[in-house]
Formats: sequence, C-alpha cells, structure tokens
Amino acid sequence: LIEEYIKKKFAEYYNLFSWRIIEPKEAAKREFGFLLFKEKIMVRHKCFSNINDLHNFIKTIVPSDVYYSSAYYLKPEEEMKRKEWLGADLIFDIDADHIDTICKKEHDKWICKNCGYIGEGSPPEACLKCGEDKIQSETWICQKCLEKAKEETLKLTEFLMKDFGFEKENIEVCFTGHRGYHIHIDSKEVLQLTSDERKEIIDYVMGIGADSSMLNFVDEQAYGWAEKIALTIKHNELKKHLIFNKKKLMRKIESIIKEKAVKVDAVVTMDIHRLIRLPETLNGKTGLRAVKVDLTRLKDFNPFIEAVALEDGEEKIYVKEAPKFLLGGEEFGPYKKEKATLPTAAALLLICKGKAELVS
Ligand SMILES: [Zn+2]
Ligand SMILES: [Zn+2]
Repeated sequence: LIEEYIKKKFAEYYNLFSWRIIEPKEAAKREFGFLLFKEKIMVRHKCFSNINDLHNFIKTIVPSDVYYSSAYYLKPEEEMKRKEWLGADLIFDIDADHIDTICKKEHDKWICKNCGYIGEGSPPEACLKCGEDKIQSETWICQKCLEKAKEETLKLTEFLMKDFGFEKENIEVCFTGHRGYHIHIDSKEVLQLTSDERKEIIDYVMGIGADSSMLNFVDEQAYGWAEKIALTIKHNELKKHLIFNKKKLMRKIESIIKEKAVKVDAVVTMDIHRLIRLPETLNGKTGLRAVKVDLTRLKDFNPFIEAVALEDGEEKIYVKEAPKFLLGGEEFGPYKKEKATLPTAAALLLICKGKAELVS
C-alpha cells in the first residue's frame, strides 16, 4: 500500500533526524497536534514538557504532519474552552496558493467532482461548467512559484524589521515543505495582540488603506508606506515628467503600492489558536522537510536542495503524469504514463503528490 510506503520512509527520516526538531519556546504551554496517516485522523491537545518525549512520540506514531500551537495555554491538554489562553506568537503564512503566477496554468489543475470538468490553474469557487463547488485541485511545487513566495517573504520581513521594529533574532522563517513559508515572531510585544489587532498589521503589510493620498506625506522625512513611495519615485527617472501630470503620478503610486504590498494569508495571522507546522518535521503532501531558514541567508535558500529529507536510495515507480522538476540538484521529467527509477526523495515527492505509484 502507498500509505504504508510513505509512512515507512517517514519513519526512516525520524529515526535518523528527529534530533533536528528543536523545542519551541515555552513548549510546555503549547498544544501539539499530529495528523495520522491512517484515515487522516488528527490527534491533538497533546503536551510535551520534555523534547525527548516529543521525539519519541513522533518516532513511535510516525505522523504524516506535525503541528504546534502558536498560542500559549495554562492547560494545553484540556479541550479548547478549558485551555486558558495566555497569549500567542504572531504568525504569517505566505503560500503560492495566494499568489498569482502565470506558470500555475502549466502545472496546476482542478477537477469538478460533480461533472468531471477539468480546468487549468487555480481552482475557482464553483465549477465553471456546472456551478457546483465539489472541486478537487491538483497543485505542483514549482520553482517559479516558490521563488515568488520567497520574494513575498523577504518583503514581509523588511516590513517587520523596518516599519515595526522587530529584531532579526525574534523573526523565524520556515519553508513549509510545500508551496510557501511561515514567519513566526515570538517577542513579548506581540503575545497579547487580539485578532483584530493582528488584522491591522495584515492590512498594513498588504497595503490595504494605502492609496494615492499618501502623496501628501511623501517628503524627506516620510516613514512607512510614504517613505517606500518616496524612495521609489525618487529613483524613478520619470519623476520630473510625472510631476506635471498628477493623474499619471497617482497611477504610478497605485502601482508602487501594488508592487510593495505583501501577499499573505490573513486568516492564519488572525487566528490566535492556530496550529502551525513544526519546523524540521516532514510535510505529508511532499515528503519534504519544513526547514528553518536563517534570515541572513533566506535570499540564497533553495528549497529544492535543502528541503530534501532522504538522500539515499532509489525507487522504481510508475508515473501517471508529472511536469519537469528539479530536486536535489537533479532534473527529472516530464513524465506521462511511464515507469522510472528515481532517487527516493524524488519518488516520494511524486507519490505524496498523487502523481505516481510504486512498482512492485
Ligand atoms: Zn462541474
Ligand atoms: Zn509555478
């Protein structure tokens, strides 16, 4: 069975590398959750006061995904309403799902479970043919999409440091092992923020409410959005031409805002009880590692090399369909209804994404 194979590979990884999993700050006050391979059941409300207990638990049950709460609780093991919320880290989720990239049309598709219609790119709310909402989407992790997600992450961290004054040491960036990045901030200033207050931060970084009226604040002492606009216009050769054409300048400002705004999933940041993927665990959708990335080297981080979890061995598989992809410095595919012998990590990725089966 495919699921058993994936679980076996995950077990190999955790036996070798569970030591990589570092205890989150104040772990004893956090809730942990584990998605099991079997029937995709979520085991939650778990608590670990000792990191070795957590390593052993993961090695024993071998989950498909591991999560921990961004929140701190007095009683993390109790059911939700009895936990007694004490505060929560500030979390951001940047995912290719929320970013428009042209390449999605080439590697993503959606299938209507009602009428069987197949469409390209991101799934619509309702089927374009029959109007039903039983839509299943098939996505791919693509280099261009992940590069875009990284750019958004870099934009966000700049906002967090420059506009909000957070220290580098308090910003943790983690590749999710799939199509994006998580950004965690655990400084004491954020812990008590309400959901609405977190929404204010989201609005700011998304440029909601920033518009061409910012022009009135654009001067030498400008700060925040006004400063970003001022700097861009200053560096723009068109400046002297634009200044005589106010309408054109307004449009220019709107486009600067659009370019500088961060594309981030607001729901994740606003949820103060969120369970979030634990760094250095495996992502069940890909078999790749959720990698903690040092902010100073985020620019050069290559998930297609550094997120490879299992570096040894190979596997013979039957690939239904897969686009060309890079992993571990090697190029694979494209494949269509064919057998192939691939390194374990590449085979595992195709199997986890539902694009290949094992050949016995
Ligand atoms: Zn349909
Ligand atoms: Zn793409």
